[in-house]
Amino acid sequence: MAEEETKGQLLEKELLYKTKNLGESDGSLLEKASDFCEGYKEFLCNKTEREVVDYSIGLLEKNGYSEFEMGKKYSPGDKFYYNNRGKALIMVTVGKRPIADGLRLGVSHTDSPRLDFKPNPLFEDTDMAYFKTHYYGGIKKYQWATIPLSLHGVIVLNDGSSVKVCIGEDEGDPLFCITDLLPHLAQNQMKKPAPEIIEGEQLNILLGCWPYQDEKVSGRVKLNILSILNEKYGIKESDFLSAELCAVPAYKPRDFGLDRSLIGAYGQDDSVCAYASFMAEIEAKDPEFTTMTVFCDKEETGSDGNTGMRSLFLKDFIEDFLMPYGLSARHVLMKSVCLSCDVNAAVDPAFGEVFERNNCSYLNRGPVVSKYTGSRGKYSTNDASAETMGFLRSILDEAEIPWQVGELGKVDIGGGGTIAAEISIHNLDTVDMGVPVLSMHAPLEIVSKCDVYMLYKAVYAFYMSNKEKK
Ligand code: MN
Ligand code: MN
Repeated sequence: MAEEETKGQLLEKELLYKTKNLGESDGSLLEKASDFCEGYKEFLCNKTEREVVDYSIGLLEKNGYSEFEMGKKYSPGDKFYYNNRGKALIMVTVGKRPIADGLRLGVSHTDSPRLDFKPNPLFEDTDMAYFKTHYYGGIKKYQWATIPLSLHGVIVLNDGSSVKVCIGEDEGDPLFCITDLLPHLAQNQMKKPAPEIIEGEQLNILLGCWPYQDEKVSGRVKLNILSILNEKYGIKESDFLSAELCAVPAYKPRDFGLDRSLIGAYGQDDSVCAYASFMAEIEAKDPEFTTMTVFCDKEETGSDGNTGMRSLFLKDFIEDFLMPYGLSARHVLMKSVCLSCDVNAAVDPAFGEVFERNNCSYLNRGPVVSKYTGSRGKYSTNDASAETMGFLRSILDEAEIPWQVGELGKVDIGGGGTIAAEISIHNLDTVDMGVPVLSMHAPLEIVSKCDVYMLYKAVYAFYMSNKEKK
């Protein structure tokens, strides 16, 4: 017979705030989440913002979306997308309510830290050929040596045509990497501060050592590499001047851990939120409010540029979309709510000292809502209002979605931002929600499958809710 709970135990249940491991409330959740994450792993195979946009448009068209038509007055239930330069994407499902009542936005970024090629990247040294890189986003440079890399991107030729590049992803493809020093000779290297163990100018990708078979030319290894590239892509060296090429980790996304409760992959910041909101957008049929799901670029370098969230492309698109209804963007945005969907740091016991345990996020406890990001005295942050937090909280709780709150880490340790501040500049209520990640920005990032699935459910609940914002 079960023992009766004491008064204190009952009061504890009623008054205290606690989060718990998702597996404690639903033992079958991992199976559902694993099924959901099969699609996520496929999505993760797209490792640059261009690849994500291409892949997503394919899926959108299969799911009844068509390309945005300027001047068209869309009806409730209509689904369409707008492609900004193949690097950013806006997806819309028109709601049943008048659009003047406001939008429900979900914005995530699809660029990830990586090694971009310099404009003139190819060189030869000591009978070896290399590509010289310039890192993109916040990386620990030493993590990028001696890991398998693949090469991705686009080269625009002088006639205006463009060539897509992807080498190193297929089984039969060759491997690439950045070399490191053997421990036997690393006495001095190992005494350096971590940012200098591998320096920016050492991030050179080894391409080969075989000379072109003609003794009369110099730089024969480089020439041989160019002749291979010329044969495969029809390019010459000057074509690198009009290219966007990068190196990213070559391995495929995989189940992680003996219990397969996790996913290990490159680029989960922020493809994890992009995929969750993408699926919520596709699944949202006849929502009450009009939904708008955005994939943006350039977040990892500060959101500058015309495909980043500091650009006006989103605001301009909304103006174009609203024109046939005679509505102004600013009036609609004022009534809108945006989820800035980005990842947060999961508590890692190996580095427990950087986390303040009552205010950080944990793997497998559901989506993490961050009232603010930024650093030091709350600089450079959106800082969602109590009303916005309350609005989201009531939607999540009504949909019975477990969630948690989280700051990045201890106050004086560091900090970081998201695009929330770039969104709220347009005078709409914005709040950060995402998935806790282990080893964020490393070549292999880890998330919990159930957190991914729950984020999808959370964004879906937000998109489908008929709750009015006060
Ligand atoms: Mn991010
Ligand atoms: Mn990031």
